Amino acid sequence: MKHYTLTTGSLMPAIGFGTSRLVPDTLEQAIHTALSAGFRHFDTAAIYGNETEVGAALNKGFSICSREEVWVTSKLWCDAHEPEHVLPALKESLAKLQLDYVDLYLMHFPVALKRGVTWPHSAADFLTLEQVPLAATWQAMEQCVQAGLVKNIGVSNFSIKKLTDLFATARIKPAVNQIEIHPYQQEHTQRKFAENHAIVLTGYAPLGSKNMEMKTASGRTLAPLLTHPVILEIAANHDATPAQILIAWQLHIGAAPIPSSSTPERIYENIKAATLSLTEHEMDMLGSLHAGAKIFDAKIFTEHGSPYTLDEIWDGELYS
Ligand code: NAP
Repeated sequence: MKHYTLTTGSLMPAIGFGTSRLVPDTLEQAIHTALSAGFRHFDTAAIYGNETEVGAALNKGFSICSREEVWVTSKLWCDAHEPEHVLPALKESLAKLQLDYVDLYLMHFPVALKRGVTWPHSAADFLTLEQVPLAATWQAMEQCVQAGLVKNIGVSNFSIKKLTDLFATARIKPAVNQIEIHPYQQEHTQRKFAENHAIVLTGYAPLGSKNMEMKTASGRTLAPLLTHPVILEIAANHDATPAQILIAWQLHIGAAPIPSSSTPERIYENIKAATLSLTEHEMDMLGSLHAGAKIFDAKIFTEHGSPYTLDEIWDGELYS
C-alpha cells in the first residue's frame, strides 16, 4: 500500500476508509471487511457520533493486524475550539475509540460553536473567531501532541488564507488539510500550496458522496460522478469500475482519498483501485471535468443568525 510521508516522518496510508455514513447495523461488518480487504487508514470524527462503534470494531480488528499498522484519524468538533475544551474533547474521543492515541487529529471546520452544540440552531450557539481565534485552538492541539495523545495534527476545510495565517503562529505546522476533492472540484490552488508547504491533502467525498448531483457556482447541475460518460469510458479501458477510477485519480494527483462504503464487494473494489495506472491522456480527460463544484459548502454555519458568512469561512475559495 502506498503511503504519504507527513512532516513528522509518519507514514499515512494513501487510501483511507471513511466512516461518517456507517450506521450501527452494518458498521462492525464494514470495518472488519475493510481491514480484511487491506485498508489500514480509518477516518472518523467526534461529530459522526459513531466513535464508540468504530473503536469497538477496530479493537476487534486488531486480531487481523496490530494497532501500530492502523492509521486512525479523528476530528475536533467546532464546539470544543475554546483552548480549555480541546484536550478534554480529544480524551473523550480516545475513550470512545478505546485507543491510547490517534495518528492524526484535525480541526474539523474553521468555525467555533458553544460547548455542547452539535449543529447550530440560533445565534446564541455561535462563537466568533475573534472570541476564539483559530491560532488559540491550534495551540491547544499542539499541547495534545506534547501530551503524547496524538502523533500528528492538521486541519479540515481550511482555505489557503487560513492556513497561511496559522503558519504565522504555529509551532507545529499542520501536516494535513482534509478537503473535498473529486474531478468536479480538483483544488488546483490548494494542491500547489500543499506541495509548497509539505502538507498532505486528504480528499473527502472522493466518489461524489452518495452519487449526488452537484451544482456549480453559477447553478449549473452536474451529473453524478459515478455515471459521467468520461469516467465510464476510462473505467471500460481498464476493465475497472467508475469508483475505482475516481479513487485512482486522487492517488495520481497525490491526494489521499477516503471513500466510504458499507457494501463488502465495494470495499474490496475500492482498495484495489490502488493498482490502477491511468495514462496521461486519461488524466487530461479527467482534468477537463473540473467545474469548481462542491457538495459540502458549510452553509449550515452561515444560517440561524450566524456571525459567519460563506466568504469568511472559505475566504473566497469555495468554488475555486
Ligand atoms: P464518498 O466516499 O464519496 O461516497 C460514499 C457513497 O458511495 C456511499 O453512498 C457508498 O455506498 C457509495 N460507494 C462506495 N463505494 C462504491 C463503489 N465502489 N461503487 C459505487 N458506489 C460506491 O462520500 P462520503 O462518505 O461523503 O465521504 C467519504 C468520507 O470522507 C466520509 O465517510 C468521512 O469520513 C469523510 N468526510 C469528511 C468531511 C469533512 O468535513 N472533513 C466531510 C465529508 C466526508 P454504500 O455505502 O452503499 O456502498
